[in-house]
Amino acid sequence: MQARASVLDGAATENSVVVVGGGIGGLAAAVGLTKVGIPVTVLERAASLREAGACIMMQSNAWRALEALGVANDLRSRYAMKVERMEAYKKSGQRLNSLAVADCEGGPHELRGLVRNNLQSTLAAQLPDGVIRTSAGVSTVSNFAGPVIELEDGTQIKAKVVIGADGVMSTVGASLGIPKPVYAGWSVFRGMTDFPEGLPDPAPAFRVILEDTSGLMVGTYPVSPTRAYYFVCGPAPEDYVQKCKDKKVARAELEKRVKGLPLAMEAVVAHTPDEHLYISIVGDRKVPAGEPMGRGCITVIGDAMHPTTPAIGQGGAMALEDTVEVAAALRDTCAPAGFKPSDMAAAFAAAEPAALAQALRANERHRTERCAPLVELAHKNAERTIVNQNILWVWLRDWYISTFGFNPKTQLEYTLPYKASVL
Ligand SMILES: Cc1cc2nc3c(=O)[nH]c(=O)nc-3n(C[C@H](O)[C@H](O)[C@H](O)COP(=O)(O)OP(=O)(O)OC[C@H]3O[C@@H](n4cnc5c(N)ncnc54)[C@H](O)[C@@H]3O)c2cc1C
Repeated sequence: MQARASVLDGAATENSVVVVGGGIGGLAAAVGLTKVGIPVTVLERAASLREAGACIMMQSNAWRALEALGVANDLRSRYAMKVERMEAYKKSGQRLNSLAVADCEGGPHELRGLVRNNLQSTLAAQLPDGVIRTSAGVSTVSNFAGPVIELEDGTQIKAKVVIGADGVMSTVGASLGIPKPVYAGWSVFRGMTDFPEGLPDPAPAFRVILEDTSGLMVGTYPVSPTRAYYFVCGPAPEDYVQKCKDKKVARAELEKRVKGLPLAMEAVVAHTPDEHLYISIVGDRKVPAGEPMGRGCITVIGDAMHPTTPAIGQGGAMALEDTVEVAAALRDTCAPAGFKPSDMAAAFAAAEPAALAQALRANERHRTERCAPLVELAHKNAERTIVNQNILWVWLRDWYISTFGFNPKTQLEYTLPYKASVL
């Protein structure tokens, strides 16, 4: 191992889990591992915890995972406003349909919008000092008699287990030979707008505007009594996001897209400050259901394992599920039920790498089985609403929604199969 000044000085990682990436998945994994007593270090490439864009809708399965991690009540009481209805509108303002979340089958369901920074800072606050190392980009991970991590500054460190939580363009995934995601053909603007005097429409509803044949889909929901969040999805060439990196260009493009839309969208966009305006490119990758994805004591979670389009708002929820399950799998391999977290560090240090690797493969099989259909559903939903611009299809879709409404049976059923392990 090289001895040199590094952001990792003082970190003893040889008998720890090293999590690569300090986004939602990486921080939550560290919280889960800390909760069960397994030592962990998080390596984040950015100089500070990333300014995580805009908001995220956390659905029931995400809340079950957040409960297992021990942060759900704090988030609920401090930040997360409940969404009680789902509504669809046409560009003309005609309401196609409306469904109470309470009427969706399999409930009670819980949908709450969260400002991402509030989620990340709540997770980070659970971790002891020194767990998160920023400016610690990882360039490769290899497996020579155990995982070896090479940082972008050339430092090499060892770990007992590596968890790649480094997002859609995962370096850990690349080191494992996992292919990159494929561009889905559309992009998303997101924004948050504050209305200090109160929202123009404070109803706790998740509203979607489906726009004719241009493939535009707009969604909005309140995240607090004075803050509205929105997203504007639409087909776009692959270089569109690059072009919109200039906030002036982004704003002009966004204004074009929301022109004439109902729900006061023009005003909401006009009041969004530049720092609360984001644009993202969207991609996904077919997940091999029931297959393992890691090697030795190296595994992946979150977008690194199953990059998905945001069409059903499940990427973050799946990442949170992953974190609970990987922490439980490692704990159960090292120690019998009832083992005290205070004794876990020694048990983890003594665990056989082969047993840990076996547990990671079994966990990956469960996780790919769970996530493959969600990624597929998100892909299909986006094709139906955003990518497909066939006039006959659009007419049929709107007719179906206005005649039969949202189906309360199928609406949130993908959140139901997840029962969080107890940490
Ligand atoms: C427009 C949009 C809307 C969305 N809406 C929702 C929603 O409503 N609900 C929902 O559940 N999900 C939603 N998602 C999905 C959700 O944002 C992601 O699934 C989630 O952020 C994945 O978390 P992650 O930790 O795996 O990756 P990320 O959040 O991307 O975090 C990865 C981290 O790794 C770091 N990193 C990358 N490479 C390296 C490296 N080599 N070394 C060290 N660090 C590295 C990055 O800096 C980053 O901090 C949405 C996604 C998009 C694009």
